[in-house]
Amino acid sequence: MALRIGIDLGGTKIEIIALEEDGRILARRRVATPQGDYGATVAAVAGLVAAVEGELGRRGTVGVGTPGALSLRSGLIKNANSTCLIGKPLLSDLQAALGRELRMANDANCFALSEAVDGAAAGAGVVFGVILGTGVGGGIVVNGRALGGANAIAGEWGHNPLPLPDDDDVPLPACYCGRAGCIETYLSGPGMAADHARRNGAALTPEAIVSRAAAGDAACETTLQRYEARLARALAGVINLLDPDVIVLGGGLSNLARLYVQVPQRWCTHVFSDQVDTRLVRAIHGDSSGVRGAAWLWPAG
Ligand SMILES: [Zn+2]
Repeated sequence: MALRIGIDLGGTKIEIIALEEDGRILARRRVATPQGDYGATVAAVAGLVAAVEGELGRRGTVGVGTPGALSLRSGLIKNANSTCLIGKPLLSDLQAALGRELRMANDANCFALSEAVDGAAAGAGVVFGVILGTGVGGGIVVNGRALGGANAIAGEWGHNPLPLPDDDDVPLPACYCGRAGCIETYLSGPGMAADHARRNGAALTPEAIVSRAAAGDAACETTLQRYEARLARALAGVINLLDPDVIVLGGGLSNLARLYVQVPQRWCTHVFSDQVDTRLVRAIHGDSSGVRGAAWLWPAG
């Protein structure tokens, strides 16, 4: 049976997983990412693959999830948080180190793929995966395959402008990408905290906003309602374009249970259909989605 190896190459840790054909975990390890040392990072990945294959006595396909995307024009990593990877030919260097063809995708695509194959969206044909964390990432999976795209940015909805900005949404917050009013500037965890601070002058974490709202704090409750209204408008645009069967939320803010009730109620107003059957669900693989999805970059058959 085919052995699938997935690598999650993060800024602080490198994780490896080996999956059996049916998705069972056969091996799993993690090491700290060599800081600021590209050559040592490539060697660490190769060492993990060699160790797991030696332990299992089998050779596998290897998929790699990275924080950035591969520039199709240059073959180099772009948009990565791990700055020592930027501008490096990571794919070709890892292929040379491992002596085989690899597949590589960004972490949001791996997240969406993991949840689509055997997670919260298992069995769905078209899946949009969203990470609501320190940033906002997105990935699209169709029939078990992650879409890359002509520019390797398929699903990067976080840097679309927030639709239908109203009085609560202006002035448009500046985004690190150089634009203003990006969805990420409202829907990331720091985005929620900044929105609350702009209205109320108090710096609170998203966790504090959520717990105070649950305890009856009116200002925090209003912040969450603004958040839900924005998420509904932003996802309605995705539904009109892609019409996914399932939208899966991951990242820290996906733990907010009320989103799964409030957002589908609100998005109906903005979707071009009298009935919306798209399901909004919470990811089930948690922190493991990146490494699992990397393994599934080599689909069955
Ligand atoms: Zn942006």
